[in-house]
Amino acid sequence: MALKFANRMDKIRASEIRELLKLTVRPEVISFAGGLPAPELFPIEEMKKVSQKVLEENGEQALQYSPTEGFPPLREKIAKRMEQAGVKTTAENILITNGSQQGLDFSGKIFLNPGDVVVVESPSYLGAINAFKAYECKFLEIPTDDDGMIMEELEKALETTENVKMIYVIPDFQNPSGRTWSFERRKKLVEIANKFNLPIIEDNPYGELRFEGEKIPSIKSFDTEGRVIYLGTFSKTFCPGLRIGWVCAEEEVLNKYILVKQGADLQSNSMSQRELDAFLEVYDLDKHIEKIKKLYKNRRDLMLKTMKEHFPPEVKYTHPEGGLFTWAELPEHINTRELMKKALERNVAFVPGGSFFPNGGHENTMRINYSNMSEDKIVEGIKILAEVIKEALNK
Ligand code: PMP
Repeated sequence: MALKFANRMDKIRASEIRELLKLTVRPEVISFAGGLPAPELFPIEEMKKVSQKVLEENGEQALQYSPTEGFPPLREKIAKRMEQAGVKTTAENILITNGSQQGLDFSGKIFLNPGDVVVVESPSYLGAINAFKAYECKFLEIPTDDDGMIMEELEKALETTENVKMIYVIPDFQNPSGRTWSFERRKKLVEIANKFNLPIIEDNPYGELRFEGEKIPSIKSFDTEGRVIYLGTFSKTFCPGLRIGWVCAEEEVLNKYILVKQGADLQSNSMSQRELDAFLEVYDLDKHIEKIKKLYKNRRDLMLKTMKEHFPPEVKYTHPEGGLFTWAELPEHINTRELMKKALERNVAFVPGGSFFPNGGHENTMRINYSNMSEDKIVEGIKILAEVIKEALNK
């Protein structure tokens, strides 16, 4: 059979890395590869109670179709929670999505024609790169440092590049680098976007998971012209299985997202939305988030301490103040895809960093997750990883 697929499918390929990552789900593997929350903190007992409550009190509505925009009381609560990101908004500016991943896909659908350019941090989130690729775009990677994207580099690049259509950033505890943008860079980004009339997609799944340092207002909080589209999610602060995220944007922009959601899936899961809403009514999500932060801080501390003790000094890594990941850079001649194969032979996994650079290169980097493995596995896995790295360096 020789079926003719759409051109866009040429851009979407199974990567070698995906094949490797499939091996990391073996139970004996100590995996620092995923971006999974700690499942032992999922509020299962509470969810049993709220599911029952929803079914008993509003069963017919919970199992029925519901509005594309989302369950109104949940939109209200999300609008209120946006205050924590420094954003004053209302339920009319919130669309519930099937995770923030759907918001990424919709952003591509709404803004990108084939050949258009998306500005991204170098490195950037693989899931966003893949979502945008389906719209046959190109990527303009802007160098980053410990304070986020370097604004001089961005301005220079925008002056000399044609067809730039949007800027995509993850300013808090970035996936993959764990880094956080400074206050000044956030403010400056909005000024630059105003000057070049570009939308900013601010993807913020980790912002509420700060366990060290001062909170910094979201990029959306600096928005004066309605050009920042904020993507939020309950995946990391609650649980990813319900698939509840949201888009917060000005009405004119949000209407585009609502239109494409109608075409994509009509609405997000009615039952999930009502369960989450009932949870937020009955329980204290912020208290739950405190528990998550405490656990992740311990795991981060333990991981960084073990890395400090065992990694050779040539390896540099970030000190995330929140979120799920640290990011390591090895000497340039080390290829972390090869290193991953060696590590997997010894049942340890991470994500080789090259995948996070849409235009290639940087094969000497790696993303290491600390949220999902128990404390003893973190110590054991990092020690093994250190040995694998030392062997590669001594070759
Ligand atoms: N953006 C970033 C930066 C992420 O790391 C993730 C999840 N790993 C997502 C978006 C998607 O999350 P979800 O669809 O579960 O909300």
